[in-house]
Amino acid sequence: MVSKERAGAGSAEEPTDQLALRRTNLTRTLRHIRTNGPRSRAAIAAATGLHKATVSSLVDELLTRRLVREIGAEHSGGAGRPGRGIALSPDVGAIGIEINVDYLAVHGADLTGRTVIEKRVSFDAMHRDVERCLEDLTEAARRSVAELVRRGVTPVGLTVAVPGLVDVARGVVVLAPNLGWRDVPVATRLAHGLAPGLWIGVDNDANLAALAEYTWGVAAGTDDLVYLTGEVGVGGGVIVNGRLLRGADGFSGEVGHLPVEPGGAPCGCGRVGCWETKVGLAQLVRKATPDAAYGLKDGPIPDPQERIAEISHRLQRGDEAATEAVEEVGRWLGHGGAILVNLFNPRVIVLGGYFAELADHLIPSAQANLARLAVASTAARCNFVASHLGFTAAARGGAGVVVERMIEDPTAVALGTRPQPDHAQRPLLLAGP
Ligand SMILES: [Zn+2]
Repeated sequence: MVSKERAGAGSAEEPTDQLALRRTNLTRTLRHIRTNGPRSRAAIAAATGLHKATVSSLVDELLTRRLVREIGAEHSGGAGRPGRGIALSPDVGAIGIEINVDYLAVHGADLTGRTVIEKRVSFDAMHRDVERCLEDLTEAARRSVAELVRRGVTPVGLTVAVPGLVDVARGVVVLAPNLGWRDVPVATRLAHGLAPGLWIGVDNDANLAALAEYTWGVAAGTDDLVYLTGEVGVGGGVIVNGRLLRGADGFSGEVGHLPVEPGGAPCGCGRVGCWETKVGLAQLVRKATPDAAYGLKDGPIPDPQERIAEISHRLQRGDEAATEAVEEVGRWLGHGGAILVNLFNPRVIVLGGYFAELADHLIPSAQANLARLAVASTAARCNFVASHLGFTAAARGGAGVVVERMIEDPTAVALGTRPQPDHAQRPLLLAGP
């Protein structure tokens, strides 16, 4: 998914089947335009080594599928008439939706990468059962699709980001402890409530956020990085050598459940002493603002950013409990960070969610503990950095996965990108990488 332009280019394994070859060439053309910006047909032919007639035919198909558009004349650098430039299309797009314990986040983008929708709303998953959550999620997806269409962008798919273990191939959430979900067929359920023909994928929130960081974030292009979600739960997305690490079953990255304190506090997963019982938002709120902790009252949980604003306010006032609580989270971040450094040797650990909001207060003690506990002498070269993608990183990554899927197989995008009635009851699941 994070493959560079060279991926899909001709190789010893180039498919001999004509349709597969054409698909590969469509992808090459799209990738070339995405990497290099608008190009004339002649320039694309020169750069890719494809025949001019082939490129013309490929571009015609991409135009029909509305994945590219023609713009003003562009000089190809050589002699002769300038050709019309071919650019990625803003008419087609993708959506990412993250469902978390206390918010829903939506990111809608067009194929050029332009952000069309970016929003986050409070959401109380703790006081809703699975059915109600799915209904609300479907409604949020429906509204996002409508809003994108209203802004002139036809979405071809959406990815749902979930804090838990996800069977990406089937679109099933196997276990999401903090949502209380087990074996929930999210993709199928969403497909029944949305326009037919829309691609629907489900993935782990930290994995999607890590992809977003690798592509657009503060450490973009850093081939070895770990992303940490700072939410009620804590997940990790691990990029190793430029690729997302998924593990045998796709369940890697559950760093929030690293056992760091034998006999410690109970965790949402049913165990005790997990890392997220030391650094999760619920723990911080409990310690920093004991008068306003989670679960004290019935009713909606206030917005996580309001919680953070309150803690920041108390830090500025020099409130002792808040200061000690944040420093303690920082130390535990360094403790768990040292385990990750020992395992993966990342160049950066990107702090997302609430960690990013409080980064100035957390990083000094986290970095000090990391240097003390990591065994490798190169540990000093691994830095904690704050994400600037905010609470919508996972949703942004989700939209990015759809765009990548579109580029990987442009022929899967319906001609004219209109929903196909014969797919009414059949969800088109986005397969994992
Ligand atoms: Zn746990």
